Amino acid sequence: MGVYPSGPGRKGIMADPNCIFCKIAGGDIPADKLFDDGTVFAIRDINPKAPTHVLVIPHEHVEALSEADSDLVAAAARCLEAAPGIARGLAVTDSGYRLVANQGPDSGQEVPHFHLHILAGRHLGPMG
Ligand code: 5GP
Ligand code: ZN
Repeated sequence: MGVYPSGPGRKGIMADPNCIFCKIAGGDIPADKLFDDGTVFAIRDINPKAPTHVLVIPHEHVEALSEADSDLVAAAARCLEAAPGIARGLAVTDSGYRLVANQGPDSGQEVPHFHLHILAGRHLGPMG
C-alpha cells in the first residue's frame, strides 16, 4: 500500500497521480518552493497556521510510515535532516520552531503523503 507506479517524467520516483504533493513535486501544481535537493523539497503552506508555516516533503510518495519500506523511511528521514537548514533559511533557528508530522484521521491529516510541518514566528503554546 502507498506505493504507486512512477508517473510520467518522474524517473524512478514513486508517485500517486491523484496526490496533491506528488503533483506539486512533478511541477503540475505551482507552489512557493523554498528548497529542493532532488530528494525532498520545501514549500510554504497554502493555509498557514503560524506566521512561518513551511512543509518539508519527500519527492517519493510515502503514505504511512507504519507501512513504508526502508527506502521510503529514508526519504522521510531526509525531511528531518533537511529541516534545520530550511529553518536557518527562514531565520527561525534562534526564535525556535515546531516540527509536526500528522498521521491519520485523529491528527487531522489532510494529505496522505508524508510531510513535516515547520511552524514558527510566534509562541506556539503547549502541545495537545
Ligand atoms: P496535513 O494536515 O496533511 O498534515 O497537512 C497538509 C497541509 O498541506 C495543510 O496544512 C494544507 O494547508 C497544505 N496544503 C494543502 N494543499 C496545498 C497546496 O496545494 N499547496 C500548498 N502549498 N499547501 C497545501
Ligand atoms: Zn504523493
